[in-house]
Amino acid sequence: MLGTSTPQVGQVQAGKGDGRTAGYDVIIVGAGFGGMYMLHRLRELGLSARILEAATGVGGTWYWNRYPGARCDVESMQYSFSFSPALQQEWSWSERFAAQPEILAYANHVADRFDLRRDIQFETRVTAAHYDEKANRWQILTDGGEQFLARFCVMATGCLSTAKLPEIEGRDSYKGATYHTGYWPHEGVDFTGLRVAVIGTGSSAIQAIPVMAEQATHLTVFQRTPNYSIPSRNGPMTPDYEGPWKSSYEPRRAKARTMRTGILYDASDANFGINDVSAMAVSEEERRRVYEARWETGGTSFMAAFNDLITNQASNDTASEFVRSKIREIVKDPATAEILCPKDYPIGTKRICVDTNYFETYNRPNVELIDLKATPIEAITPRGVRTTDGEREFDAIVYATGFDAMTGTLMKIDIRGRKGLALRDKWADGPQTYLGLMCAGLPNLFMITGPGSPSVLSNMIVSIEQHVDWLIDALAHMQKNGITTIEPTADAEVSWGHHVNEAGHRTLYVKAASWYMGANVAGKPRVFMPYIGGVGVYRQECDEVAAKGYEGFVLTSQARAEAAE
Ligand code: FAD
Ligand code: NAP
Repeated sequence: MLGTSTPQVGQVQAGKGDGRTAGYDVIIVGAGFGGMYMLHRLRELGLSARILEAATGVGGTWYWNRYPGARCDVESMQYSFSFSPALQQEWSWSERFAAQPEILAYANHVADRFDLRRDIQFETRVTAAHYDEKANRWQILTDGGEQFLARFCVMATGCLSTAKLPEIEGRDSYKGATYHTGYWPHEGVDFTGLRVAVIGTGSSAIQAIPVMAEQATHLTVFQRTPNYSIPSRNGPMTPDYEGPWKSSYEPRRAKARTMRTGILYDASDANFGINDVSAMAVSEEERRRVYEARWETGGTSFMAAFNDLITNQASNDTASEFVRSKIREIVKDPATAEILCPKDYPIGTKRICVDTNYFETYNRPNVELIDLKATPIEAITPRGVRTTDGEREFDAIVYATGFDAMTGTLMKIDIRGRKGLALRDKWADGPQTYLGLMCAGLPNLFMITGPGSPSVLSNMIVSIEQHVDWLIDALAHMQKNGITTIEPTADAEVSWGHHVNEAGHRTLYVKAASWYMGANVAGKPRVFMPYIGGVGVYRQECDEVAAKGYEGFVLTSQARAEAAE
């Protein structure tokens, strides 16, 4: 029964590749922020748990995405764990938006401080997870030939953890060096003296391009769709900024948990707080003033300039046009500026980017922009990239082409539930979950920030903490009541799916061919995958489900299940 800290099945802790079986209460897949926090909290319940992680270290996103310029776009005072008051007091960020090495150092600090490593097995990729209905166990298989048996399986595998290379003819024929931003070499890359191509202009590219342009002899950016980007106004952390946060962290964190994005926009700062008025309710001068002020403040709070930018096309048009006017102001060559201006989707409906000197970089003599809408790529050749207007030679190609987001990593694992139900089949027409936490037919298998939860539309550390805390409460409830199985009903899953879909369709998000919609992966169903209801609302919904005795879930005890057979 759930609640013993000793392994119940197998009794042997397997070594990598020895083919033996190890048993745990919980197997967690992934040692990013999600997996680490889950492990930490599980220990409080006295459950035996092990993380299986493909990488050689912790940090997930921040372990893999080491490209130049990589940093968070949620301010570091908020893009950090809130669960430990001591941790948040003792850690100091050096910048408003910390860079990848510092965030990775933070992840390592968390692992050490909470003694997590002893229960993490690195260099272990989970290839399959099969539910044994009779034994009520998950059998988890790894690329090293190991087998783990667990009562519960937690997929903390990340929403943006399967990097995607573009399907371009001849890609493998290229003889120079290639990189993907999502799998950047640990030793770094020096582009000095090289002719470099970047394919893609999403958040990763927008951060990397200004830094790479300073090194490369010549940088050629291949852009298919331009992006809206807001200057970050990043800078060193100052005592004046850090002090008030640290002296009132608890109430600020509490407030952030109720916000739509899980981010507390500083209410005392008129250029940062949420402006609860429609963009159409004010004069053109006032709109311009508000947008200017937000542009100067920097960061994603630009989208909080008015309360209807994501629901009202007319309002959105004003913000979109403002950003286009800024691009035209910054970029000196009018033709280049025009190519950089997004025009065919509303601002914010593809993830808004946050940059340092992105548009300014196109004023450098060594940077060239290729408009793939006008001259599409025909092939990657052994020497470079061929578009319809000719071949260009490069010493290196950087693919900043994104991820098979939200479902890709889970679909790579052969997950099978009751009666062999395969997740790949279940999700063939798009992900179906209850609350983004579980799936009908897959008992005792949980997802951290799964599709159908706010996840990628939020400060993800806030969403991770909320999911883990909810799951820990659910497991404690099960422990207390002798319950061995939790599984959503098919009805609950369907109605949650409708709710997620309806919420998405009330916004402009569905107008963009974004990765939120699965549009960046050929053949992927076009479904708006995250839940747009907001972090605060969603938290209430989850809490209400728990308060009503886990409404929408079936909870069973082993004894009851056996009696029913
Ligand atoms: P991840 O960090 O993705 O960790 C998942 C882990 O699971 C990885 O270590 C992976 O190796 C492992 N894994 C996956 N599959 C398997 C398998 N089969 N077997 C074993 N291990 C497996 N969010 C924000 O809120 N703010 C930001 O500023 C922000 N910036 C970002 C910048 C970049 C470049 C990217 C790519 C994402 C960013 N995100 C940001 C989103 C970010 O992914 C989350 O904030 C957060 O780090 C996710 O943590 P996680 O633990 O859920 O997943
Ligand atoms: P992305 O936003 O999906 O961008 C991928 C880019 O590659 C797009 O410009 C895309 O063009 C282009 N592309 C893809 N296939 C192509 C092809 N065959 N030919 C030409 N261009 C192609 O990926 P990302 O930049 O890695 O960002 C993913 C997400 O990670 C972000 O949205 C964000 O959530 C997170 N992230 C955050 C930060 C941060 O600031 N903290 C930084 C990086 C990433 P199309 O648009 O035309 O498809």
